[in-house]
Amino acid sequence: MASDDPKPLVDVQHVSKLFDTTQGVTDRLFGREPNPVRAVDDVSLTINEGDIMGIAGESGCGKTTLGKLLVKLHEPTHGSIEFDGKDISDLSNEERSEFRQRVQMIFQDPFESLNPRMTVFQSVMEPLKINGIGDGYHDRRERVKEVLNDVGLSPAEAYLDEFPKELSGGERQRVAIARALIVNPDFIVCDEPVSMLDVSIRAGVLNLMKELQDEYGLTYVFISHDLSLIRYMCDRTAIMYLGDIIEQGPTQDVVMNPKHPYTEALFDAVPEIDPEAERHRANVTGEVPNPRNPPSGCRFHPRCANIIPPEDWTGSQDAFRRTFQFKRRVLHDDLDPEEATESVGRESPDAILERGLALELPEEHTLADESSRSVDPSVLDLPGDAERTLRDAAEKLLGGDREGAKAELEGEFVSICEREHPDMREAGSRITACHLYEEEETDRVVAPGTSD
Ligand code: SF4
Repeated sequence: MASDDPKPLVDVQHVSKLFDTTQGVTDRLFGREPNPVRAVDDVSLTINEGDIMGIAGESGCGKTTLGKLLVKLHEPTHGSIEFDGKDISDLSNEERSEFRQRVQMIFQDPFESLNPRMTVFQSVMEPLKINGIGDGYHDRRERVKEVLNDVGLSPAEAYLDEFPKELSGGERQRVAIARALIVNPDFIVCDEPVSMLDVSIRAGVLNLMKELQDEYGLTYVFISHDLSLIRYMCDRTAIMYLGDIIEQGPTQDVVMNPKHPYTEALFDAVPEIDPEAERHRANVTGEVPNPRNPPSGCRFHPRCANIIPPEDWTGSQDAFRRTFQFKRRVLHDDLDPEEATESVGRESPDAILERGLALELPEEHTLADESSRSVDPSVLDLPGDAERTLRDAAEKLLGGDREGAKAELEGEFVSICEREHPDMREAGSRITACHLYEEEETDRVVAPGTSD
């Protein structure tokens, strides 16, 4: 349980983890710098003693890499991680073995984390042997039985000689939990601990983990893409997007009143259990970009419904968002004039405008009766000069002059969101990285052209 007087147990400061940092053959051939995958990028996070901290985000956002950094299964490329006041990249042999005992990880797939040739007794006892804990075979056997009972594998004697393949998924994950607990750790990172289990037994395993937190005085990190699990288990939650933490705070506040547009989109996309409940429209566009080549400024800007128009924009925010999307699609060769004219049914710059200004909503964000394939520009609050620029670009596209179309749009319609990476700022009880929030203010700043 989180305490009223929080004491930091894990302190992550500006940690990055880059993969593939060496030059490949083609890089060497063309004299190019390596282009690493920025799995975790400049993340700062504090986990207090007794916390259950959730780390959530879509797959590939870097949450598992961050979990592995916390338990020292990866070394940071930059930055520092302190555990109980000590930098974990700078441990003596003795401190390292103490760290290995105090910090454990539970993985998604219990089948993979357990050796199929070892019995339950051998698997759970092994960490005691590795850490030199226990006074001989008898003492260790008793300790194993005690922990098996604690994780609900009772009577323990019935499980000691079983092999993983003889157990159900839930039993296997309980063995993995017992294996983590046997060394009496302080901190456990749980990476999607129930996602491989049958839905009917997930709640049982999660409730067990809550009980064990009290009994063993544990601090947990739960890594999950499952937002209902995060809601159920975690006191505090950090949301990751493309290697960045973009919002963190008390789970209740992050879930019920998210500040960052990505968090809003993430939670709004979760289908309601109650079919009568109104489903919010998250309205996020496009797919997650490649982490090898993340967008400039705010990494979420190509998909963000709230992208901020420049000061001199006189139209609506919605019109700016569509204009910006049009520009990006032309610059990234993502607006095919043939496909646009075919889908709209006539060959003219208007058809390209209609298609290019329509929002590309991913399936989970599209309402059943909604058609997002084209939009009539005349219903948008689009300034005349902007429309002329878009039309000129559309004409060039139609005439097969892609480079000319790009030149029309290059340097136009630039948002602060595209230009500057937002710092983490306080926004009420949360910390969020979004230009919509100013340093000392807690409410969203109304961007020009918005009615928010
Ligand atoms: S900084 Fe801009 S693009 Fe990023 S989340 Fe905030 S409003 Fe959206």
